[in-house]
Amino acid sequence: MKFSIKLVLSTMILLALALGFGGFYLVNYVFETSLEREIGQALDESSILSFAFETAALNVPLKYSVLPDSVVEEIASRLETGGENGRRLIRIADEEKNVLYTSDGFTVDEGLLPQTDQHTKSYRVICVEDNYYVHTCVAINALDRILYLETMKNVSEVFTERAMGFSLYRKVTVVMLLTGVVIMFFIASLLTKPIRLLTKATQRMAAGDYAYRARQISRDELGQLTHDFNGMANALEENISKLEEEIEAREEFMGAFAHELKTPLTAIIGYADMLRSHKMDEEKSIMSANYIYTEGKRLEAMSFRLLDILVAKQEEADLQETPVKELFAYLREMFGEKKEIDIRFTYDEAVVMVEANLIKTVLVNLIDNACKASETDGVVEVIGQMVDEGYRMAVRDYGIGIPEAEQSKIVKAFYMVDKSRARSKNGAGLGLALCEEILKIHQSELQIESKVGEGSCFSFVLPME
Ligand code: ADP
Repeated sequence: MKFSIKLVLSTMILLALALGFGGFYLVNYVFETSLEREIGQALDESSILSFAFETAALNVPLKYSVLPDSVVEEIASRLETGGENGRRLIRIADEEKNVLYTSDGFTVDEGLLPQTDQHTKSYRVICVEDNYYVHTCVAINALDRILYLETMKNVSEVFTERAMGFSLYRKVTVVMLLTGVVIMFFIASLLTKPIRLLTKATQRMAAGDYAYRARQISRDELGQLTHDFNGMANALEENISKLEEEIEAREEFMGAFAHELKTPLTAIIGYADMLRSHKMDEEKSIMSANYIYTEGKRLEAMSFRLLDILVAKQEEADLQETPVKELFAYLREMFGEKKEIDIRFTYDEAVVMVEANLIKTVLVNLIDNACKASETDGVVEVIGQMVDEGYRMAVRDYGIGIPEAEQSKIVKAFYMVDKSRARSKNGAGLGLALCEEILKIHQSELQIESKVGEGSCFSFVLPME
């Protein structure tokens, strides 16, 4: 069942109970008050009648020492006239509670007589032929006789009013409930609108529309829920697009890897086939073996680089305080002998937090690339300097440069701007990908500035404490 319908139903049940109990209590209260008033009036009237009877008895001629029954009847018939509708309903009984006089229509049993004595007044409410009466009984002291006067007062109107009150209240309740259902339905659908919008958003997202967001239409708890849901959806969308990018990158990597393997393998298989199936002169045999050797070497270098990248990806940072001087001494020793390129080292003294071997690998790769890009007798500068953000290391060359469109791609595995040039220099497009992975461990990244024909500058900043 829909939440809004549940809301309407529960409110209606509550309203029906409240109206039912409230109405019953109200109508009954009015009824009881009216009945009490009628009983009070009936008792007052019976007191007045008994007083009137006693007064009439006092006026009886003195010839009677005892009030005779005939006089009792006479007084009773006089008292009978008056009251509502011009006639009172009374009954008179003697000391022995034998009935002496009964008005026409006084049809009640003698239930009250036995419980009434000289000093008590009694009453009850009874129903006779669909009419309700207050039946009272009181003792009369007439001369030396004790008589009993019973009266009947019609109170049917009070009961009729109660029945009318109930029927009216029932109608009012039904009308109020029907109006309430309509109003509650609108209120419930207004209150549950944010839930409906959220449901729609979850369905759209489940169907793959990750950019869909729920509209926030209130500032209450449901509005907050919508806001939080949209926040969660943003995070989810971001993660999904990252995952998609990663999958795409992996697929690209696999494609490039397969391609890079294919070229040297085709050469190796081709030359090996020639060697085993033809008798060749020595010069050709040496040339074929040479091809097999160099392509094999390329494959070996590539597999080592790939292994390095895999290791770097899984590496936990174990950074040590390392003087920059030590790093530059190593580089100087390694590249100092390179006569065809003039490599210049300048640096500010500092101690950096690095894994020395890994940072050396980055710098060696960058210097190697710079040398490959430079003409013979070119200049390569290796610079270490303190900057605001940390310690900056840069390798600058004045060689061929990299086209702007390629600059963002060259850090991808197997990417080479000029494939034949790179392969001729034993490159496989893996050096910069390895540098990126190593710099990630050091919370840093490669920055590339380059202009075709003017040279390039590869730099990174090591954060300092
Ligand atoms: P490789 O093993 O081919 O050197 P890298 O990942 O180190 O692989 O470099 C990828 C490509 O980026 C190179 O093939 C080259 O085309 C280009 N490149 C890298 N460094 C430079 C540079 N300093 N100047 C010009 N091109 C460069």
